[in-house]
Amino acid sequence: MNVLVLNCGSSTVKFQLIATDLESIAQNADRRLARGAVERIGGEAIITLHAEGREALKSTAPVRDARAAVDLIIRWACSENSGIAEVRSVADVHAIGHRVVHGGERFTHSVLITDEVVRGIEDCIDLAPLHNPANLKGITAAREVFGVGIPEVAVFDTAFHQTLPDYAYLYGLPYQYYRRHRIRRYGFHGTSHRYIAYRYRQLRNIARGETNVITLHLGNGCSAALIRGGDSVDTSMGLTPLEGLMMGTRSGDIDPAIVDFIAAKEGLTAQEVETLLNKQSGLIGISGLTNDMRELLDEARENDDRRARLAIEIFCYRIRKYIGSYLAAMGGADALIFAGGIGENSAEVRERICEGLQWFGLEIDAERNALQTGGREGLISRDGSRLAAYVIPTDEELLIARDTVRCVRGAPQRF
Ligand code: AMP
Repeated sequence: MNVLVLNCGSSTVKFQLIATDLESIAQNADRRLARGAVERIGGEAIITLHAEGREALKSTAPVRDARAAVDLIIRWACSENSGIAEVRSVADVHAIGHRVVHGGERFTHSVLITDEVVRGIEDCIDLAPLHNPANLKGITAAREVFGVGIPEVAVFDTAFHQTLPDYAYLYGLPYQYYRRHRIRRYGFHGTSHRYIAYRYRQLRNIARGETNVITLHLGNGCSAALIRGGDSVDTSMGLTPLEGLMMGTRSGDIDPAIVDFIAAKEGLTAQEVETLLNKQSGLIGISGLTNDMRELLDEARENDDRRARLAIEIFCYRIRKYIGSYLAAMGGADALIFAGGIGENSAEVRERICEGLQWFGLEIDAERNALQTGGREGLISRDGSRLAAYVIPTDEELLIARDTVRCVRGAPQRF
């Protein structure tokens, strides 16, 4: 089955085309056919189209909306020019898997999209006002381009964390706000944490129920999850992705009284302060330079820039604190797992996060750690380390494609 995986943002459509089916899933034999993105939709868009085994094609062209972007992607995929032998016409795409950010408490698994599911995603717009409308536009766009007959599946960022116990998902707020407005911790990056935990048990050859780990998704957005017996039992992002670790442009945890304080001092509205916490804080806010960790590391190394150093230090310190609290909450864990652009590529950041965790029995192997970059997967702790550490490059798109196949084939979902 050829599955088109779509991740639609407010001005971006990212895609992958993956050939998979129940048998390929069982044998880990899924094949990625193509990937790419259409960015800055609404104006002169930047288009990247990359068929597996070929050079990536980069171009610019005016792209009006998500529908035009999906149309462009599929026309390219079907053309001789793309070189994708498996896709010669629109009919060769058999299903579509959509990344949907917020599924609230209703969606605990991936689902085939029906009108009722669309209404359910609409009901969650309050909880993700920027993301869910864009995801819905992607669903409509795909229906328009492929026709209503094509099966579409929604895979939610929040679903994996629906196993959190109430004492972990409730805030210390008056309980009626949970009852009335469903204010609680939902968590995000669920597909990523789920994939990382799944790969870990494949690497270790252990059962789902034996998976007791802390997963760290460290990209431009960052989150940690505590996984016990294969289920997510705590996670650092909350009602929105703003809570938790410090990120590229997000503050992460702060004293909530700061919002009002900044609003009063700077003459801003609460909404403007929220934007500041989402877009101008974190690494870029502290350093005053960039939200890009690679550039900050260069800046600290080459120019000994004080605020670049400080931003990196705060970033690592906060993660270490979360690891410590999760180890206490679970009474220890078997492994820490690093993923995301920073987690997968920066041996230096991983090493700095792990400094001081020797107390928990973690012994990092410097040589192994240095080797795990650029998408390589493997152990970075010493043999015999009581707490192990791994790098496992995440692959949300693969999991979306697999969930799509399982939903379409009516096979049980494996969360
Ligand atoms: P993501 O959102 O997962 O694509 O991750 C983006 C983040 O990963 C950015 O902060 C990048 O600077 C960071 N990153 C990518 N490669 C490296 C690297 N080699 N060293 C440090 N950070 C990196």
